[in-house]
Amino acid sequence: QAKEDGRGTFRFANLEKNQVAQDRLVLGSALRDSLAKGMLNLHYQPQVRTHTLELSGVEALSRWHHPHLGNIFPSRFIAVAEETGQIEAIGRWSLLEACRQIVKWDGDGVYVPTVAVNLSAVHFRNRALPEHIAALLKDHNLKPSRLTVEITESVMMDSSSDTEEVLQSIRNLGCGLSMDDFGTGYSSLSRLTRLPLTEIKIDRSFINDFEYDTNAQAVTMAVIGIGSRLGMTVVTEGVETEQQRALLEELNCDVMQGYLFAKPLAPDDLEKWVKHHQTIRAILPDTKAAKT
Ligand code: C2E
Ligand code: MG
Ligand code: MG
Ligand code: MG
Repeated sequence: QAKEDGRGTFRFANLEKNQVAQDRLVLGSALRDSLAKGMLNLHYQPQVRTHTLELSGVEALSRWHHPHLGNIFPSRFIAVAEETGQIEAIGRWSLLEACRQIVKWDGDGVYVPTVAVNLSAVHFRNRALPEHIAALLKDHNLKPSRLTVEITESVMMDSSSDTEEVLQSIRNLGCGLSMDDFGTGYSSLSRLTRLPLTEIKIDRSFINDFEYDTNAQAVTMAVIGIGSRLGMTVVTEGVETEQQRALLEELNCDVMQGYLFAKPLAPDDLEKWVKHHQTIRAILPDTKAAKT
């Protein structure tokens, strides 16, 4: 019995490995081509303050539509980019694209307080990253607070001392620094206090069945407590229902992001969303939203 299980697992692992290897080959070169041709896009998902519903920022998420392969989701191509050494190029591209977009929105009279860009662990081993970000901000004449950098727990796990210094330098610039997908990795609470974070994002998996899952509620409540005691903004991602929103409001979560408010949107659609959202907030009768 045990032997069979072992074989099954082995075969499955091999299948997965083949898929990954194939992805690396096919998608790797397609990605290189698309990047060179400027065929990646950023979509932007609104984040709103829980109590006032005002826009607190957006998260920039990469989108790739390939002429033959169709839409490829970041869960697939980001892994490929990491394995084929293209993730640094994607990071540089998304930082530049985000800055350009902020300038454009500012020009159009749409104020987005901060844009959060996802960066992978490799970026933080590069000592030149803070200078690169500083130069980008200067070139676009943007206050550092307009940019937030999202890191994952894998970055926290990175024992390289460069990583901590790079994070500190980015924070010293005045950019936001957000711990993404919190609760899914292996980070320790002590490490959480040592890094210069401005924000924690509680992973979507805790919010999924939030209404019915009292354990998820307990964990979320605890993380909100820790985060706010540490002076960080606590964000919940994947908020899809009004029940979830109401519960999270009770728990005093600072900021929410999820399909309940909007999906990740193309830049023009984000502009429309912001304008529409401002109108709605202004006519809401007796919420705190109307007063701010
Ligand atoms: P993430 O940074 O945790 O981003 C949030 C993901 O949750 C996004 O998936 C978003 O579309 C999705 N989401 C937001 N609200 C909801 C909701 O209410 N329900 C559900 N079911 N999903 C929701 P997406 O865009 O597919 O991105 C997946 C992951 O890929 C991201 O997770 C991030 O880790 C990575 N990623 C995306 N773009 C980039 C990038 O430019 N660079 C890097 N390094 N990673 C990226
Ligand atoms: Mg993120
Ligand atoms: Mg996340
Ligand atoms: Mg996530």
